[in-house]
Amino acid sequence: MEYRLNTRCVQAGYTPGSGEPRQIPIIQSTTFKYDTSEDMGKLFDLEASGYFYSRLQNPTCDMVAAKITALEGGAAGMLTSSGQAANFFALFNICECGSHIVASSSIYGGTFNLIAVTMAKMGIEATFVSPDCTEEELSAAFKDNTRAVFGETIANPALTVLDIEKFAKAAHAHGVPLIVDNTFPTPVNCRPIEWGADIVVHSTTKYMDGHATSLGGVIVEAGKFDWSAHADKYPGLTTPDETYHGVVYTEKFGIEHAYLAKAQAQLMRDLGLVQSPMNAFITNLGLESLHLRMKRHCSNAQAIAEMLHDHEKVSWINYCGLPDNKYFDRAKKYMPGGSCGVVSFGVKGGREGASRFMSALRVAAIVTHVADARTCVLHPATTTHRQMNDEELVAAGVSPDLIRLSVGIEDPNDLIADIKNALEAV
Ligand code: PLP
Repeated sequence: MEYRLNTRCVQAGYTPGSGEPRQIPIIQSTTFKYDTSEDMGKLFDLEASGYFYSRLQNPTCDMVAAKITALEGGAAGMLTSSGQAANFFALFNICECGSHIVASSSIYGGTFNLIAVTMAKMGIEATFVSPDCTEEELSAAFKDNTRAVFGETIANPALTVLDIEKFAKAAHAHGVPLIVDNTFPTPVNCRPIEWGADIVVHSTTKYMDGHATSLGGVIVEAGKFDWSAHADKYPGLTTPDETYHGVVYTEKFGIEHAYLAKAQAQLMRDLGLVQSPMNAFITNLGLESLHLRMKRHCSNAQAIAEMLHDHEKVSWINYCGLPDNKYFDRAKKYMPGGSCGVVSFGVKGGREGASRFMSALRVAAIVTHVADARTCVLHPATTTHRQMNDEELVAAGVSPDLIRLSVGIEDPNDLIADIKNALEAV
């Protein structure tokens, strides 16, 4: 029976047999024992499935990955050491020196740097497009060597909303998959695979963990992209891998698992950006309440956004749950039940006013993190971007007065009182 999303948050990924642990066991073991070398040899040839070394696969991590895969409606999933690792693996699994990526320009700064600087050093170039570009502009960004399209459902920190269907259609028309970073809405609020995405990635460090305890990432494969139909583009999936005795991933694992089987077998073996079983276990505790927490994050953020919208000390506010927001209609289409708990706004008095507001907060804490159960707040102009002057900030898309507020799951009345009180200091 196919359980509903709320039940999957609590129970998917692990079904204990009689007398087995109720909770996902933490298999804190680097290695696994076999009776004969031949038995173990079959694993090395990918002829049998099983565990032999936790850099490649670990049962605890696999159970948690299976839960997230069930939440996203995917065919296969794999945990990584961080969200950055998930994004890198998701792209590098199908790109190599000489490849090209089409990416939304409105993405997390770390991912932008990964694609624009670090992957460029590996000979993988990228064209960045506005998330609001026309179909013609999007189509014009593709080249013969394009191997993937990348975007974020809700971008951090710009809070733009991706038109997933449009990006998926363009990707498929050019014979490449769409990779979507779905960190901010989580599968509770949006499931990109339902809108045509082929691969979904997350920083599980954010809402999935939700308690600011564990770095982690995940890659989920929809299992629908036909790599063999574009075999010339993806020889790594469609021709023999001599490092595994000539296995052809598309033949051995089929359309459903070829992409992740290759990522696990090759990238984890060679690069080892593996998540620890302990972090996976803690992340799973977060997943068990994800459906409840997301509801509260969204209702709290909506109430605060509405208050800020009408406040005399606030110069502008960006939250896609407000009817006059540019992304309101698109957010309603892709995330009818709510978007996320992150709101950005500007206070009157620019950099100085924002700084005074931050110092006066009592419930909300100043941290660089987002998507925590506790409300947190960041003023980039006086912290992460403090070396820039006002003109440089504007050029970087961060106005001097911008405050990013990650609304937690506390009582909304306490949060509103705290923010109103701090606005008095502006
Ligand atoms: N993707 C998004 C949307 C993020 O916001 C972040 C981090 O803030 C990342 C990826 C990177 O994740 P991590 O910090 O787990 O490496």
